[in-house]
Amino acid sequence: LWTQVLERLQLQLSRPSFESWIKTANAERLEDNSLTICTPNAFHRNWLQKRYIKTIADTVQDILGYPVEIHVTVAQGDESVRFAESEVARSSPSNDTTPKASPSNNVKPPELNQKYVFSRFVVGSNSRMAHAAALAVAESPGREFNPLFLCGGVGLGKTHLMQAIGHYRLEIDANSKIFYVSTEQFTNDLIASIRKDSMQSFREHYRAADILLVDDIQFIEGKEYTQEEFFHTFNTLHEAGKQVVLASDRPPNQIPKLQARLCSRFSMGLIADIQPPDFETRMAILQKKAEYENMRLPRNVIEYIASNYTSNIRELEGALIRAVAYISISGLSMTVENLRPVLNPGIEKVAASAESVMMVVADVYDVSVEDLKGNSRRREISWARQIGMYLMRQYTDLSLPRIGEEFGGKDHTTVLYSCEKISQLKDSDPSLEQKLRQLADRISITSRSRN
Ligand code: ADP
Ligand code: MG
Repeated sequence: LWTQVLERLQLQLSRPSFESWIKTANAERLEDNSLTICTPNAFHRNWLQKRYIKTIADTVQDILGYPVEIHVTVAQGDESVRFAESEVARSSPSNDTTPKASPSNNVKPPELNQKYVFSRFVVGSNSRMAHAAALAVAESPGREFNPLFLCGGVGLGKTHLMQAIGHYRLEIDANSKIFYVSTEQFTNDLIASIRKDSMQSFREHYRAADILLVDDIQFIEGKEYTQEEFFHTFNTLHEAGKQVVLASDRPPNQIPKLQARLCSRFSMGLIADIQPPDFETRMAILQKKAEYENMRLPRNVIEYIASNYTSNIRELEGALIRAVAYISISGLSMTVENLRPVLNPGIEKVAASAESVMMVVADVYDVSVEDLKGNSRRREISWARQIGMYLMRQYTDLSLPRIGEEFGGKDHTTVLYSCEKISQLKDSDPSLEQKLRQLADRISITSRSRN
């Protein structure tokens, strides 16, 4: 049965998903209406449960003709379990909810991520000022820097710092009302309140905050009604000496379509920016993260990651997590050499689009995209087409049938044949391998510039 399931899943899923998550799992037993699948570790189990359980159940039902319940278990004795589980927990915000303030009708309770505390924030020269300001605000809210406006690029720690203020405050006074909200959430609450004719409770809710943390305020651009309402919320809080903290990917005066009066309000406290971290700071962040998660990594592996992921701390951490997951699944040892395939920063950062694969292949092999989608059997064209199918399989998330569609409605077996052929040739032909790598780089660049 499991072999049949695997065969079918291979057709439905992309190659990386299939190889990392499905092929490495095993069917343990089938009893009555329940199938138990065994995975190498907890990280793997959670991932299967989250992403693939339905697909697997449907496939099994298809083959057996009746529905079965799928249970996923973990093989005994895996050390990475603790580490991996904590990552999975982090990715689902419901685990991190602190049920503090009582919500009024339409307004959700605040959610603070338990990991976003000061003690886990590594201070470097890039974030010294923002960190000091956040700490000052946490110690005496509503005094000096009101509002505190944190700005900096994606993944540089704005949300982390902002929530750290909340945690710190709650430690001092568990009753203080800390509201963390994204701008989007604020807008949604507002819209819901208008619909339900409950503006009163919306206003009461937001204006009762001791500290109001509003994330990604740049998204307020052009939303006239939200700006109007937020202006009043802001003023009420500010006049009452309550603290407002805002985070944005750019300073107030660069947010387009922001009312002048809001722009001036946002700028009246302190604007503190966070820059990308330097190498030393990146090393320190990785070390701290590894320490917290009880991971031992060779120094050169940490250096390798720190030197390849430079502009976004979320990606830096993501690379570390991927490395650990990969090692625990593959059973390889933790060396830079073994990690290269998963940590290749070029192609890894941006999932390639089918379109970019088409464009690059057409360009490099000097054929047209129509040729690639067509049925011509001319040698150069069918070669380019096979290369294209192979690359699409390697660097996109598309399944074999979907790739077939991209190439003008070819059968999935044709796609599979091409992928296997190119893959075999590549193994015995270094010049082809090099060519494929160049193509991959170009696809990566093309995908990125079009994102
Ligand atoms: P932003 O809100 O600026 O996009 P986040 O606050 O969400 O970024 O940070 C992204 C990830 O990087 C989070 O997991 C956060 O804990 C981590 N991080 C960011 N800055 C630091 C830092 N200085 N020290 C430790 N972890 C950090
Ligand atoms: Mg953020």
